[in-house]
Amino acid sequence: MFKLMICREITKLMSQRLDVPLGIKDRLLLQMHIGMCGACRECNRQFELLHQAGNAYEPLAHEQGNTTENLS
Ligand SMILES: [Zn+2]
Repeated sequence: MFKLMICREITKLMSQRLDVPLGIKDRLLLQMHIGMCGACRECNRQFELLHQAGNAYEPLAHEQGNTTENLS
């Protein structure tokens, strides 16, 4: 059976998985903990928003560079 992880370990996994994909066991632990811990669920949501914003930033910056002539 999986050991119960504390919130600090869970948040560490959350930030880790933005850089490297987690193994199946870590993903399960994360999902299980999020399922029973409201604080970590909220924390995970914040991480995902940050991650999405980070992904969206680069293409946007690139696009802005290409469209500067049209805008000015
Ligand atoms: Zn927690």
